[in-house]
Amino acid sequence: MTRVRADQPHTPRQRALAAVSGLKAAYPASCALVHSNPLELLVATILSAQTTDARVNQVTPVVFAQMKSAADYADAKPAEIEALIHATGFFRAKTRSLIGMGKVLVEDFDGEVPRTMEELITIPGVGRKTANVILGVAFGIPGFPVDTHVGRLTNLLGIVKTRDPVKVERDVCRMVPSSDWTNLSLRLIAHGRVVCIARRPRCPACIFRSWCPSSQAADDGSVAEVSGLESAVVASP
Ligand code: SF4
Repeated sequence: MTRVRADQPHTPRQRALAAVSGLKAAYPASCALVHSNPLELLVATILSAQTTDARVNQVTPVVFAQMKSAADYADAKPAEIEALIHATGFFRAKTRSLIGMGKVLVEDFDGEVPRTMEELITIPGVGRKTANVILGVAFGIPGFPVDTHVGRLTNLLGIVKTRDPVKVERDVCRMVPSSDWTNLSLRLIAHGRVVCIARRPRCPACIFRSWCPSSQAADDGSVAEVSGLESAVVASP
């Protein structure tokens, strides 16, 4: 069982701010999807559903070489795009999203990627997660994308108690300065891939092991009994 000293973070807000500072020291804030403009990031993010960023990065160089504008996607034949993105899986649904995306961008936004959540979520294939990625990464406008890693880690770290992505976003954004939203999300994703891996978290190697309510590492770094969110103990130093 992890014992959390009184001088360590033990409220959701304290844990959120400790996560911001701890992750900032441990990881660069970088988006793994290779892109050179907002349209490419939008396409890459749509393609990233149900697959890995590495797989997306394997196909996007060819996609981006052939499809350079929103009109290119709007005017494309489905078979043309399907052939390009086949390796990312769910290629028919993603092709429909990409062609629909192109049409909406051309018809409603003069071919440009819009810069507001309200506008972005009118684009086929774009939900709040993708919209927040575009806002934060492409435009530097505060946004907190909640993917599976972010939802999982914010619960494990005792920052939120909900798996509803909209509520996770709402709760975290209330606790963390807006200037940190996007980078916190990017770094949580990195931590979830490298250390707090689903089903086999490397707690003894984790920077949060001394206060994480879900840590399975004992104080000496060895692996202790499995503990849950409810097992954190706030103790005197
Ligand atoms: S201590 Fe363990 S459960 Fe908590 S964030 Fe680190 S790896 Fe995940």
